Formats: sequence, C-alpha cells, structure tokens
Amino acid sequence: MNSFVEVPSGSHFPIQNLPYGIFSRPDGGRPRVGVAIGEMILDLALLSERGYLDGPHLTRLSVFDRPSLNAFMALGRPAWREARSTIQALLRHDNPALRDETELRQRALIPAKSTRLHLPALIGDYTDFYSSREHASNVGAMFRGKENPLLPNWLHLPVAYHGRASSIVVSGTPVLRPYGQILESGADGPVFAPSREMDFELEMGLFIGPGNELGRPIPVEAAAEHIFGLVLVNDWSARDIQRWEYRPLGPFLSKNLATSISPWVVTLDALAPFRCSGPKQAPEPLPYLLSSDDWAYDIQLEIQLQSEKMDRPAVISRSNFRYLYWNMAQQLAHHTISGCNMRPGDLLASGTISGPEPHSYGSMLELAWRGSRPVQLPDSEVRAFLADGDRVTLTGWCQGDGYRVGFGQVSGQILPVQE
Ligand code: MN
Repeated sequence: MNSFVEVPSGSHFPIQNLPYGIFSRPDGGRPRVGVAIGEMILDLALLSERGYLDGPHLTRLSVFDRPSLNAFMALGRPAWREARSTIQALLRHDNPALRDETELRQRALIPAKSTRLHLPALIGDYTDFYSSREHASNVGAMFRGKENPLLPNWLHLPVAYHGRASSIVVSGTPVLRPYGQILESGADGPVFAPSREMDFELEMGLFIGPGNELGRPIPVEAAAEHIFGLVLVNDWSARDIQRWEYRPLGPFLSKNLATSISPWVVTLDALAPFRCSGPKQAPEPLPYLLSSDDWAYDIQLEIQLQSEKMDRPAVISRSNFRYLYWNMAQQLAHHTISGCNMRPGDLLASGTISGPEPHSYGSMLELAWRGSRPVQLPDSEVRAFLADGDRVTLTGWCQGDGYRVGFGQVSGQILPVQE
C-alpha cells in the first residue's frame, strides 16, 4: 500500500501507521487534530469541515477541530476504525479524491517542520507501572541484594504508583534539574541541594479511550476496547531524592519534576501486525489477570544521549517493548479491579523497559550500575548520571516488510538548577 504523499525510506510515518497528534498550523488558528504522513501533517479539522471524514460514527460535528484528542478517544473503537480506513483510503496513491483536489490538498497537507506540536491529550490522571522484570530485578539487586531482588508481591500483580499529570510535557520541552532533600551516605540527616543523580527511564505509555464507571472494573478481555494507542515516555527521575523520600509510599518529588511524552499516538490497529507473545508468566496470575490474547508488541526501542560537547547523539541502549512481563491488558484490569474509574485521555505508563543484557537496560541507574561502571561516551566523556546540557532522546519503531510503523521520538535536555 502506497500514498501519493512522499514517504522517505525509513520514515516512521508511512500510510500503514497514521498516528494522531495535536498541532498548530503555521498560518494561525487554534491547535487541532492531525495525522502524520511522511514529513507532512494531514489536517483532520479541515477535512472534516469539508465533509471528507463523514461516516456513521464521524459527522461534521467534529471531534477533530479541538486542541486535544480526548473527544475522539472517547468515541471508541468503531469510530477509530472508521477514521483510520477513511484516512488511509484518502491518502492512497490510486485515489484521486484528495490527490487531485489541488487547492484542498495544498491546504490540508502541511510540512511537519513548519508546525508546532502539542501534548496529544488533556491528561486527567497518570499512572506509572513497574512491569519490567529485568528492571525490577536490577533495582532490587542494587538496593536489597542479589538473593531476593523481587519483592514477594511482584510476580502476582503489576506494581504501580499514581503519578502527576500536570507536569507531563511534550517532546522538546527542557527539563530543569530539581533541588530536593538528599541523604548523603554516612550522614545523620539530609541536605537540601540540587540533584546529582538525574536519570531517564525508557518507557511507553497507553492512552485510555472510553472509560469505565466508578465501581465497574474493566475485565482483562475488554482491554482492547479501552486502549486508544501508545506513545514513548521518558519518566525523568532524580535518584538521590528518590532514595531518601520513597519509603513507605513510593516516589514523589523525584518523579513529578517532569515526564516527557512523544507527540504522536500510534493506534493499536496500526500496531496489530506486530503483536506477539510476551514472557511466560509463572506463577500463573490470578484469574482476573489471565488473558487468552497475546498482548506483547515487537517494538524496537533505542536510547540516545548527546552531551553539549558532542555534535551528534550516541546510542547508549537498545531494548524492546516485548520484554515487559506484565502487559497492558493486565495493567488495565488490575488498575480498575478496585472499581477505580478511567477517563478518556488518562495515561498509563509501562515502567522502565529493560532487556536481559546490560546494553539493553532502560535507565542510567542500571546502565552505569549505580555509578560503578560509568557509561562511555565519544571523546572520552563518561556518565554515571546525567550532566547539565545532556539531551536524552528515546525512539521506537516496528519493522514491517519494507516499512516501519514508528513513534518518532521523545527528546529533552537537562537544564541547570534555577538560582
Ligand atoms: Mn517510571
């Protein structure tokens, strides 16, 4: 399948992908919904206004002329499927409907470079899981010893904490090094100082579509009806602040300083060809967490770091979404089993996605093993944690036969503390 829109080879956004995002046109107007295709953005607000997206589920009462995807997310899977097939048909090389309407085509397809991208959704609530067995084992081994790296609950439920939605930022937003309380080793009490152990976490996040009523859990088998799509997530973490504050209720200020996400939401339908089985789960999870479907996806992930001295980024780790022990359906079923209600636009992040090998770990804490084996960068720079000016970029894609379904990237630069 090809599009009349040019898609450079290796692009993350061929006609097989069609991720949704929120953008501002260079000629003004308020932010609206668009779809990435090659190096262009298709303006869905404009197409909808002209009646090109009409169908049983989507009418001219547009969900696209809005500054967030929430209204579209809330419509549910039949509307998402209808939109995807209509947009895919409009962009096909052999369909003249948009291709040969020169005036409309030129207005509806805008070079991505000339636009501004925003957060894709108004995120009401944000939860961060801890679903990578490798990551949990590495952190456990570092802080509690190798004998029992996993706490007794870990293999029975997807551990998580409720995060902070207000400080979720879109890719490109700088991240300020925070001040906080830090207990230096051997000290009697904490000092108040800038974090010296700034870190990233390689994660992916799912956006909720239709929610559930308070008191009515989402069964594991119904998860696909409630998951709109996925983005890349960098859960910035101040490890020294985290180490002192986290007991007994979990991370707080070490994580709420900022969380960065990629601007394009890739739908489950676009990811369907890359579905695969995840790690075998033993002991068998309790029945409410048992799913008959495969819920892993073969998404290749990469972490790049660029210091102020470097003229291009270096790849410091390669991982894969399929390594996650607890899958998205289980996360959603577990999150709501208490009766907790989800709302359209809520974000559930996976937790750090570490692979089995040291070069596949998803945080600096693990890559440099708590500072004991610093990461080597070009020009003899080394890192145990992030330095001011460091830019961290996460990217991810599924490799199809001659095309990629990709996520673009999420990038952020560490700025020094503000005096
Ligand atoms: Mn995290």
